[in-house]
Amino acid sequence: MYNAEIISIGNELLIGKTVNTNATWIARKLTLLGFNVKRIVTVGDIIEDIVSALRESISREAKVIITTGGLGPTFDDKTSEALAVALRKPWVINFEALQMVKEKYYKMGLKLTPHRVKMAKMPEGSRPLPNSIGTAPGILIKEKECLIISLPGVPKEMKAIFKEHVEPVLKNIGPHLCFSEKTITVKGIPESSLAPVLDLVMKNVSKVYIKSHPRGAEGVKPVIELHITSSGKNMEEAKYYIEKASDILLKLIREKFQKFQIE
Ligand code: ATP
Ligand code: MG
Repeated sequence: MYNAEIISIGNELLIGKTVNTNATWIARKLTLLGFNVKRIVTVGDIIEDIVSALRESISREAKVIITTGGLGPTFDDKTSEALAVALRKPWVINFEALQMVKEKYYKMGLKLTPHRVKMAKMPEGSRPLPNSIGTAPGILIKEKECLIISLPGVPKEMKAIFKEHVEPVLKNIGPHLCFSEKTITVKGIPESSLAPVLDLVMKNVSKVYIKSHPRGAEGVKPVIELHITSSGKNMEEAKYYIEKASDILLKLIREKFQKFQIE
């Protein structure tokens, strides 16, 4: 299985200051690449908590673990050190990373300081990922069958490194599956009445997953958004399952209910 896990790191996420848009963005990307995102975990800037989250994801045999946050120069940025502890590897200056950090600061007319050098420290054996927008490089390291990738917390930087350096790697090692989806909105049928119909469709077309999202008020004015998803070896196959499921779904709804609206 191509399972993936996301670890979001930062006190600001736990105190409700920052909305975890990074995890949502990465989860979507991984899903579209055919990975099965099994967990999204959020921990604070505490080394032991980051270490245990990493070790747990590794023990669940995730193929890919992506962390965000805590790669910067300040005292509360602990991700890289925690990664070294979790993997029982020395935390050392990576010279390729140091070169990247050095160049960034020289361009700004600034010299290296211990806090800036810290951004080039990584677990031994890491591959630094160039940060085209900010200063802290990302980290890529392999632990047995698991690929661990650490990205900065700043969304713009995280997205740039992901698109430029992570996506090509994931495309290579990934399941080579295509993901497809379709949304159907049903008005006038309570979610609880639709539930057995959805079970039946998923039994008939085992390759699809249907999730219902209530958007109105059950009983009074029910509006249910049905999100049908599927993966296939190619887009044609994934779309075929979706269309098959949606045809059966609409047929069953027409047979079972009198008053409803489909959008
Ligand atoms: P920096 O070099 O800026 O310190 P960093 O990798 O250390 O980068 P953090 O300090 O953890 O990143 O976060 C920097 C900022 O990015 C936070 O203040 C917050 O605004 C934003 N951020 C962090 N994590 C997330 C997240 N999961 N989703 C959205 N925004 C985030
Ligand atoms: Mg920081």
